[in-house]
Amino acid sequence: MSDAETLFEKIIAREIPADVVHETDRTIAFRDINPQARVHVLVVPKTRYRHVAELTEADPALLAEVLGTAATVARLEGIAESGYRVVFNTESDAGQTVFHVHAHVLGGEQLGFFGS
Ligand code: C5P
Repeated sequence: MSDAETLFEKIIAREIPADVVHETDRTIAFRDINPQARVHVLVVPKTRYRHVAELTEADPALLAEVLGTAATVARLEGIAESGYRVVFNTESDAGQTVFHVHAHVLGGEQLGFFGS
């Protein structure tokens, strides 16, 4: 297992610091260290699955909890009404670098469209 694979587990265990904005029994939400929008928060299930497809297959209730936490974060950050985006990068073509599934919650400004 590479460092990248264990990084979020270390944040969950409070072994490395993160700016945590919300936490539940099964999820944690913290600010991305390299924000791509004025608000950029990652929502991570405390149980590690490689990506959203694996999470969906293994524990759909936990996926729903991750999305619920994303909605809570949007309310806490004041962007629920103005709008926000929830993104799961999946494998290398999508730019996934940390292979512990996480939702990016992006907002706080007009977001551009994205693709190649
Ligand atoms: O979707 P992807 O796997 O590329 O997202 C990983 C995200 O984790 C990046 O946006 C990166 O900035 C973030 N990160 C972080 N804290 C770290 C290491 C990476 O917020 N210590």
